[in-house]
Amino acid sequence: MDVPYWLEDPTPARTNGKLDGRVDVAIVGAGVTGCAAALRLAEAGLRVRVHDARSVASGASGRNGGFALRGGAARYDVARETYGAERAAAYWRWTEKALDRIAELAGDALQRPGSYRLAGDEEEREGILLEYEALREDGHNAEWLDDVPGGAAGRFHGAIFHPRDGSIQPARFVRRLATRATAAGAEIRENDRVEDLEALEADRVLVATDGYGHGLVRELTDLVWPTRGQVIASEPLDSVLYDRPHYARQGFDYWQQLPDGRILLGGFRDVSILDELTDVEETTPAIQSSLESFLHELAGREVAVTHRWAGIFGLTQDMLPLVGAVPGRDGRVWVAGGYSGHGNVLGFACGELVADAMLGRDAPHLELLDPARFSD
Ligand SMILES: Cc1cc2nc3c(=O)[nH]c(=O)nc-3n(C[C@H](O)[C@H](O)[C@H](O)COP(=O)(O)OP(=O)(O)OC[C@H]3O[C@@H](n4cnc5c(N)ncnc54)[C@H](O)[C@@H]3O)c2cc1C
Repeated sequence: MDVPYWLEDPTPARTNGKLDGRVDVAIVGAGVTGCAAALRLAEAGLRVRVHDARSVASGASGRNGGFALRGGAARYDVARETYGAERAAAYWRWTEKALDRIAELAGDALQRPGSYRLAGDEEEREGILLEYEALREDGHNAEWLDDVPGGAAGRFHGAIFHPRDGSIQPARFVRRLATRATAAGAEIRENDRVEDLEALEADRVLVATDGYGHGLVRELTDLVWPTRGQVIASEPLDSVLYDRPHYARQGFDYWQQLPDGRILLGGFRDVSILDELTDVEETTPAIQSSLESFLHELAGREVAVTHRWAGIFGLTQDMLPLVGAVPGRDGRVWVAGGYSGHGNVLGFACGELVADAMLGRDAPHLELLDPARFSD
């Protein structure tokens, strides 16, 4: 029961070549970040080897809620105030483009029905109204709804409809990225835990472990906090109540109905928020029972839970990822991670961004995401 629903998808065949000796870049982690970077670097002709302690997409990339949203982890109006209006607008546009690029690569792993950002109460309504107005002011697509159709009708206090957002089968997408990366010449070594970056036979190393691999880079230990998220999936329902990703309560609750009729629901981290600051990948009774009660509410009746799982993501102080060279490591060690629970699109975008930076190409947003921003 603790196998994530997404990982039950058949693994596509992959021709995995073996590279002899030293490589240009060793990547630690074969999730969306590591695979996107590997593809980009291998296509540019570099010798790339990816190491994963388990298998492709076995971390958060195969354990998440399947929401493929534009934007960052913070509300757009808050992002404008925090990073400045121009930088926030450019950052949002960049993620919109990344989502379009994912659509080109994902095939049937991505659908784009849009998403609903719901207000759980009047206070949240005021907050997301500010977000909606800021999005519209800056020319981003968004619609305001006082109520939403379907199973959530009459239960929330307004919603933003983001028409270009998507629902992704994340494991299928990342396994496809891995297949493309190996076809471009990258080597992927599964069941190969890296204990010491210095021991890797590589000119440069990219750490792409998001919430996992805590402690691998000493300087990042206090900058990316491992955080646990828990998810359940129901038996298939015979009617469609939720035809796109829905999320509410600052994203603490998120659910969608899958093509086979199951409701996939995650969240309720705030039930025991301090206990969830952990990299122990296991479910807990307190959160599982909250998820289950809410699932019955969403379905309008008791429904069986067929899958339960936990995953770990990396949270940062300012909710922005860390992307770039790790300070003080002479350009040998690089990082991309810390998506604060929004890594499906950002992980892909930052995997490509860090690869571009390593290739010496133009890499916009690197300054905003520079890991050195936390250095004294
Ligand atoms: C429950 C949950 C729900 C989420 N929901 C969403 C969502 O709906 N939408 C969204 O955008 N984001 C969501 N996220 C966040 C998103 O899943 C992650 O940010 C994203 O998948 C991170 O991808 P990644 O490739 O950077 O890391 P991961 O996919 O976590 O991959 C890291 C890899 O590194 C490997 N690794 C770690 N240490 C080592 C080592 N020492 N040696 C070798 N390999 C190592 C691991 O085995 C793992 O495969 C969610 C996360 C969780 C946990």
